[in-house]
Amino acid sequence: PKISTHRQATVKPQAMARFETEKTYVMVKPDGVQRGLVGNIISRFETKGFHLKGLKLFQCPKELAETHYGDLSEKPFFPDLVDYIVSGPVVCMVWEGPGVVKSARKLIGATNPLESEPGTIRGDLAIEVGRNVVHGSDSVENGEKEIGLWFGDEGVIEWEQAMSPWLRE
Ligand code: ADP
Repeated sequence: PKISTHRQATVKPQAMARFETEKTYVMVKPDGVQRGLVGNIISRFETKGFHLKGLKLFQCPKELAETHYGDLSEKPFFPDLVDYIVSGPVVCMVWEGPGVVKSARKLIGATNPLESEPGTIRGDLAIEVGRNVVHGSDSVENGEKEIGLWFGDEGVIEWEQAMSPWLRE
């Protein structure tokens, strides 16, 4: 009974606030873009039921790659990681939904694709840690930070999705 074709027209903006849950930053890395996996990756978040709030093809400058992976700056693979991220365009995305940070990490799979479960993005589509096709924020806090870093004040769009009542009670 909650679902009606009139719902979108009648729900007040205040009432929609309860649908605003957490957001995460997901990025198709240059190997994923070059390999033509963008659609496949977007599709997994879309069909899961998460809500797309930001999307852009972007050539990442070196400084941004260094900042994004700042926590790993002491790792021996850091210079190669930065080179990899700036080696071609990436696709930056913001996905919103209940528990989306943790769920996106599950959809993405373990960092090393040989250890990622089949059915996950990395488990299905990659074989090396240095070419693991996709990034996803590891906490709500880092999600907010990364959305700010990659999108700034522009490009994240709050919009009402017509199918929301079919996804969320
Ligand atoms: P995740 O991307 O799963 O959150 P990390 O934050 O540990 O994983 O690492 C960030 C990225 O750094 C990885 O996705 C991968 O691209 C790269 N990376 C991590 N460990 C290695 C490694 N041992 N060798 C090469 N690259 C690595």
